Amino acid sequence: MLLAACGNSNSGDNTGSNTGSGSTANGKGCKNVGVLLPETASSERWDSKDRPLLTDAITKAVGQAPQFYNAEGDATKQQNQADTALTKGACILVVAPFDGQAAAAIVSKAKSRGVPVIAYDRLIQSKDLNYYVSFDNVKVGELQGQYIVDHYKDYTKNGTNLVMINGAQTDNNAILFRQGALNKLQPLVDAKSLTKVYDQYTPAWDNDKARTEMDGALNAQNGNVQIAYVANDGMANSVIAALKAKQLNGKVLVTGQDATVAGLQNIILGDQMMTVYKAISKEAQATADLVKAISDGTDTAGVTNGATTKTADGGSVPSVLEQPVAIDKTNVKTVLDDNYVTKGDLCKGL
Ligand code: BGC
Repeated sequence: MLLAACGNSNSGDNTGSNTGSGSTANGKGCKNVGVLLPETASSERWDSKDRPLLTDAITKAVGQAPQFYNAEGDATKQQNQADTALTKGACILVVAPFDGQAAAAIVSKAKSRGVPVIAYDRLIQSKDLNYYVSFDNVKVGELQGQYIVDHYKDYTKNGTNLVMINGAQTDNNAILFRQGALNKLQPLVDAKSLTKVYDQYTPAWDNDKARTEMDGALNAQNGNVQIAYVANDGMANSVIAALKAKQLNGKVLVTGQDATVAGLQNIILGDQMMTVYKAISKEAQATADLVKAISDGTDTAGVTNGATTKTADGGSVPSVLEQPVAIDKTNVKTVLDDNYVTKGDLCKGL
């Protein structure tokens, strides 16, 4: 029935970049925005969603396309890219840090030049950070954990083993996702309804490493794994490949995140049970709204509405946190209705 949703498609990404000058202390009058992305390999989102949406929204906000950089999973490279952006006259930085601690150095340098920094999607641990735009990331983990709470009985007739394959520990989000998941799962572990046999962070959210992790966990348990909490769809796809190699796909409850095309297809095929949809268009728009307010010199409190996030060094950063939505086979249509994924892309190859 889900396949019945498949039909015509359309897609409408646009990209663009140029540079320009114009810098004023504290971002007033700024049009030259530098955007630093963390990596490409961990999730298809950064290049295929965030980049075109940020380009579009920021160009509309200040009348000039932002300069883009991607650190490709290297904190030092990201630091150098920040230096390059500043040298090229960037007067507002939007940074999705590869390493949320290391990126504090980017904030310090920007501050010394009067350049405001917006942490994008991932928090930077610096009290000098100006703004943070993301989702309620504990809630993301709670949605994943709650799905397991609601459905684990269907998968635990022959055992109760739970594997947790988390994201990168250098990404504050990965810590929050795990925390949210455990808010829901720990009571089941304490009650011995589930037995946690593996719980590790995965450096750089490396999808290949997730495959190795799942192969290792399956071998250690002689294939006796019932639940795989997996932090995102990219790693879930690797976990499913490990399960397929043992003809266990569809028999193990696998979670994910990002509502990627591959993740949604795995849900339609019955190999992955849920994902978390995060409307990146809202995240990009809120970022552009902040850029516009900073550039116009108007009050950013109208964008952040009083919300703040604590940093590890005791800061309190004005924040916009959007709401995530759980998706399983019953509501895949939600992401189609929102034009996050097109029917054509979803149904390709199925
Ligand atoms: C993002 C996720 C993404 C992951 C890996 C996280 O910080 O919030 O959406 O799947 O990084 O790129």
